[in-house]
Amino acid sequence: MIIKSAQFIKGIIGTADVSGDMKKPTFAFVGRSNVGKSSVINSLVNRKDLVRSSSTPGRTQQINYFLINDAFYFADLPGYGYAKIPQKQREKIRKLLAWYLGSTEVKIDAVVLIIDVNIGLKESDFDILELLHGIGRKVILVANKADKSGKNAVHKQISLIKQVVGACELVSYSAKTKQGREELLALMEDLVS
Ligand code: GDP
Repeated sequence: MIIKSAQFIKGIIGTADVSGDMKKPTFAFVGRSNVGKSSVINSLVNRKDLVRSSSTPGRTQQINYFLINDAFYFADLPGYGYAKIPQKQREKIRKLLAWYLGSTEVKIDAVVLIIDVNIGLKESDFDILELLHGIGRKVILVANKADKSGKNAVHKQISLIKQVVGACELVSYSAKTKQGREELLALMEDLVS
């Protein structure tokens, strides 16, 4: 798939009605803070800063919709599991994610769950996976930062991750080198065509 255009459409919060106008195929991007979610999205759309990092204050407490190729949406969700933010704020994010990912009203064609391949899955990732499997969402697991370790170490980690997640699409990825980009885009294209 070739990405021709990408633009910010709007940010939504937990009380928004998302059943109305967002009818195009939608990919929801989730991940713990700092796994490289913003970098992955930016690498997919070939832009340096379409999406801002979760370490930047501002647009990060909402779900940001981007229109891609005038055909589908990328929904960028707030990063979770960040120990340094206040408990109240963390709870707000948890509620927002649970509402959005768990609601049958929301059109989501697949959830792109990003992890750091060098770290693997953390408890907060398992919580999200459980929620997603419970509602029957399609999940593509993106194991990012594959450039940071040697090939063998990455293979080992990928096998371990496969063992714990079971049947799920899994892409070894690097936002830095763009390894895995074509594979991920092809998987996404298959889901919407
Ligand atoms: P977010 O909080 O999940 O949106 O993460 P960011 O996209 O802001 O990335 C967090 C940090 O990881 C930044 O310093 C990025 O430069 C770095 N990073 C993201 N993706 C990669 C990658 O594929 N390889 C390497 N080596 N670093 C990455």
